[in-house]
Amino acid sequence: MVKAEGVRKSFGLLEVLKGIDLEVRPQEVFCLIGPSGSGKSTFLRCINHLEKINGGLLSVDGELVGYRRKGDKIYELKDREVALKRRDIGMVFQRFNLFPHMTAIENITEAPVQVKGESKADARERGMALLERVGLADKSKSYPSQLSGGQQQRVAIARALAMKPKLMLFDEPTSALDPELVGEVLDVMRGLAEEGMTMIVVTHEMGFAREVGDALVFMDGGVVVESGNPRDVLTNPQHERTRAFLSKVL
Ligand code: ATP
Ligand code: MG
Repeated sequence: MVKAEGVRKSFGLLEVLKGIDLEVRPQEVFCLIGPSGSGKSTFLRCINHLEKINGGLLSVDGELVGYRRKGDKIYELKDREVALKRRDIGMVFQRFNLFPHMTAIENITEAPVQVKGESKADARERGMALLERVGLADKSKSYPSQLSGGQQQRVAIARALAMKPKLMLFDEPTSALDPELVGEVLDVMRGLAEEGMTMIVVTHEMGFAREVGDALVFMDGGVVVESGNPRDVLTNPQHERTRAFLSKVL
């Protein structure tokens, strides 16, 4: 579903991604861990066309991110085409970025109606089903300020799902939450995994990675240091840098 071969990304003179190689298979829960500044968010942003890579190859669902092949020529996508591609990828961030002036259900139906042209009635019906799925059917008329952090994050997940994404990217979705609210968000993510959603999850929740993850990658300094089955990497890390990192977070 996602394939990175030698992916490089610099900001000015700072090279953040120094040749990332990895492959995320369909329906896989792919966990990404690593110290602050190692390039995890940057990599997710590259997958979602929010940053342009400087080298290597990056593809989603068999199509190059940001480019289109025609015969043996390769063209850069226009902004409009990039926006179309981005629709297929849901993203949930650390900070709940719901629209503050809209209720939960309005947050969820906004993009399907405005971007995809769904009818308001259809979007609403699906939106209510999504709220039910994340356990918030009774909060449809609440504004973000009236919801807890965990509830806001569950609305954010429902909002991403409303666009029927083929891939979901999670960037530390629980790290801004009070500890007692983390579980309810992870439970929703676990449910999504069980339904077969392909997910890339940047997280410090090693329990989630171990129980739900199909693959785990440890990134440091803009490269993949170690990857494998989460249980293997977490219990028997092969590299000193992985061991040092895990000893701090486990
Ligand atoms: P964290 O765990 O703290 O979220 P991260 O692994 O997600 O870290 P990134 O946010 O990808 O790290 O940042 C990697 C490096 O790239 C950092 O040194 C950061 O300062 C730099 N960086 C990220 N975005 C930009 C930008 N738009 N312009 C310049 N530098 C950037
Ligand atoms: Mg980050």
